[in-house]
Amino acid sequence: MSFNIAIDGPAGAGKSTAAKLAAKELGFIYVDTGAMYRTIALYLLRSGTDIEEEAALQAALEDIDVRISYEQGVQHMILNGEDVSGLIRTPEVSDMASRSSARPAVRKKLLDLQRQLAAREDVLMDGRDIGTAILPKADLKIFLTASVAERARRRFLEMKEKGEECSEEEIRREIEERDYRDMHREISPLVQAEDAVLLDTSDMTLEQVVERITALAKEKMHA
Ligand code: C5P
Repeated sequence: MSFNIAIDGPAGAGKSTAAKLAAKELGFIYVDTGAMYRTIALYLLRSGTDIEEEAALQAALEDIDVRISYEQGVQHMILNGEDVSGLIRTPEVSDMASRSSARPAVRKKLLDLQRQLAAREDVLMDGRDIGTAILPKADLKIFLTASVAERARRRFLEMKEKGEECSEEEIRREIEERDYRDMHREISPLVQAEDAVLLDTSDMTLEQVVERITALAKEKMHA
């Protein structure tokens, strides 16, 4: 039986950075489900699909083959044979991922892929609905969050470091918009699972967050 850790939380809470490091320390596979939604979003943008048109959306989804591959432990997203990992972190893709992920057909497409991965391997999977919908029986669930101001500040610094021009105020607005959409959609809204451990990282360093996640995991594994 594989051991499954579900980490959910809002945009920019630092889930992926902390989850990646914790997975490495635990010897688990890290699965970034946001990257899967982003990969579909990239296809929808490229093809100019009107996501509100059910038939058009269905037709587009049928043309999409999403795969995940690992190179030296790093997750790569493969869209119809093309490695698109470097193309899915733009604000346009974030926005489309947030809008299209509210469509049931999009969520359905990724559900099996995510569950199959978790059934096969010890995974630390991060997303919005992992503990509530994808892996309701996960061995450990964590809801990782931070204040909007802190999340905007972190994302701003991250983008500045990459040399990308941006305004902290604009990032904050984008985060608030995505939070609202993720929390208010009809299907699989972002919500803390009843049995999830709440981790507010506003005043924690990355090292402290990683340490807490690995400590919680080890506790559960040895219970
Ligand atoms: O985590 P990340 O910011 O990369 O996710 C991009 C978007 O994909 C989110 O804003 C959210 O709308 C969607 N998402 C989701 N369910 C997940 C992971 C991501 O709806 N499990």
